[in-house]
Amino acid sequence: MSDETILCARCSNVVDPASENIWQMKFVAFAGPFDLTLPGNQTIDDIRREIEELHRLLEDVSEREALEAVRSFGLYYFCDRCYREWREDPAGSEYLA
Ligand SMILES: [Zn+2]
Repeated sequence: MSDETILCARCSNVVDPASENIWQMKFVAFAGPFDLTLPGNQTIDDIRREIEELHRLLEDVSEREALEAVRSFGLYYFCDRCYREWREDPAGSEYLA
């Protein structure tokens, strides 16, 4: 096992990539009224134009409205068991009663 201990984001068990599958889950969530381009093969000028456009769009947006336009990113590791459970029921239907 490497020097860095990896914990499963769901069950908190230590995951040893040398002896079991480990799943890296990258989540990117966008919400809000803005239709911006996803990161990809953008140039610096593309990103600059996007930031300028975002500033222009935010000129008339309240702080509250801006907070509600959430973008979140996350990188998680799942053990094999948790990955299989998540894949079968990603929304966690037991919580939707
Ligand atoms: Zn797990």
